[in-house]
Amino acid sequence: MNFKALLNTISDKIHTLPIVILYVTEGCNLKCAMCSYRDRLSDELTIEEIEKLAGELTEIGLKRIVFSGGEPLLRTDFEQICETFAKHNVKQTLLTNGMLLKKKIEKIAPYLDELIISIDGATPETHDAIRGVNSLALIKEGIKHTKQIFPELNISFRTVIQKNNFREINDIVRLGLDLNINRVSFLPVDVFSEAFGREHKEIAVNDSSLLLNADEVNELRAVINGIDKKYFDSHFISEPYNKLMGFAEYFSSSLSGSGYPPVYCNAPMMSTVITARGDILPCFFLPKLGNLREKLLIQILNADNAKTTRKKVKAFELERCKTCVCSLNVTKRAALKSDF
Ligand code: SF4
Ligand code: SF4
Repeated sequence: MNFKALLNTISDKIHTLPIVILYVTEGCNLKCAMCSYRDRLSDELTIEEIEKLAGELTEIGLKRIVFSGGEPLLRTDFEQICETFAKHNVKQTLLTNGMLLKKKIEKIAPYLDELIISIDGATPETHDAIRGVNSLALIKEGIKHTKQIFPELNISFRTVIQKNNFREINDIVRLGLDLNINRVSFLPVDVFSEAFGREHKEIAVNDSSLLLNADEVNELRAVINGIDKKYFDSHFISEPYNKLMGFAEYFSSSLSGSGYPPVYCNAPMMSTVITARGDILPCFFLPKLGNLREKLLIQILNADNAKTTRKKVKAFELERCKTCVCSLNVTKRAALKSDF
């Protein structure tokens, strides 16, 4: 029983930190329409800093590390990073764009509990246009290769639904089935926050060209209604039908700027995001709380500004939460059972 995790759900203090999302780099080999991560930074966390961090995280109860970025597989020492967390008995999830699977998965997969691949279209025309590089064919090869050598590895797609791909939702489900992966997952595009490097690079926050117009929202509802129910029942699609329909409501609300579907989230009580430079964020979208290079993580997480943020998230007072596309809601039961 994880009583400390249960305590997290009811207090503003962090007693344990079961989930961490670690951006190991801001470098990326794709050029997605909704993200500005491109080049590696000169001052990204070093392997020595990550090793120290792994020890610190273990002491405060880390159960799952989620590697993100940027493209994690671009780090030449990524295997060493996985090895470090494996020594601490931590479950490892890799979020990847899939470009380097064929080259690198053989050494990485043995450390992984879960592999999540971003797929933004079922056809090269759609996927590659959104991702800015001819890539779908190579990613599919990488997935086939991975399935061949690690048939038991839990593999899923994550698709960001937006103007240029919502008509392909059914085709993406079929592509997942064809490639024999475990499940597919969807979320609507975020254009309102400064996440994904948009605060400081070429892609503007509030770029509404990725959003759907009123006719397209109706079309999206029809697309979702056309999905075979069995994919929801079997959880091949991770989100329930109602959640997918909520995405249509999100796009509809984005047209009027109000009436967004309710968001239930306790991400900052259960997790934190650590950027490639060691900034500590309460979640993908909220402003930084501090930096690892300046203080111990637990001091940052339990400083007054962090507690105030959690209090406001709990009270649903933050504007950012109201338009959030990627919340996390760990129930008390899941926290107690340490189901992360
Ligand atoms: S969304 Fe992911 S794959 Fe696309 S540019 Fe950003 S980091 Fe790279
Ligand atoms: S709702 Fe979104 S913005 Fe608010 S705390 Fe959760 S993840 Fe962060």
